[in-house]
Amino acid sequence: MEDCIFCKIINKEIKAATVYEDKHTYAFLDIRPASEKGGHTLVMPKKHYELITDIPDEEIKHLSLTLKKISSALLKFSQGLNILQNNKKIAGQYIKHIHFHLIPRFENDNITIEKWKANEYKNGEIEKIQNKIKLLF
Ligand code: 5GP
Ligand code: ZN
Repeated sequence: MEDCIFCKIINKEIKAATVYEDKHTYAFLDIRPASEKGGHTLVMPKKHYELITDIPDEEIKHLSLTLKKISSALLKFSQGLNILQNNKKIAGQYIKHIHFHLIPRFENDNITIEKWKANEYKNGEIEKIQNKIKLLF
């Protein structure tokens, strides 16, 4: 896809620190890592899709296997791992080529991704949300 920075990296038109590549998937280091010690790996399909829901079923199987493979490598030197994937701008997606963020974790690494403010459901709200989601499959 023209004007997609990740497509350009995959096509080797722009440099990146590639860590893994196969027929369907690609992984390289994020230029602005969340972790000082462990870097931050971005994993994606080679083909350009914007959202997780855009990826064909066969393609997402390949992507899942690559996510597992890279997670396994990262967990060999880190103490833990967060996997994050943003869909649409409101959720923090700035690059419109779907990608997963793999962030190795270490004691006292000062990364706060998993520490969102937890809310309480108001009366009846949990059932309302549950029923809304169940009707959408
Ligand atoms: P998003 O916010 O879309 O989920 O994540 C985009 C990520 O891509 C960011 O973490 C950002 O640091 C990274 N990024 C943006 N431009 C480049 C680039 O040119 N090269 C590399 N390696 N990473 C990039
Ligand atoms: Zn792209």
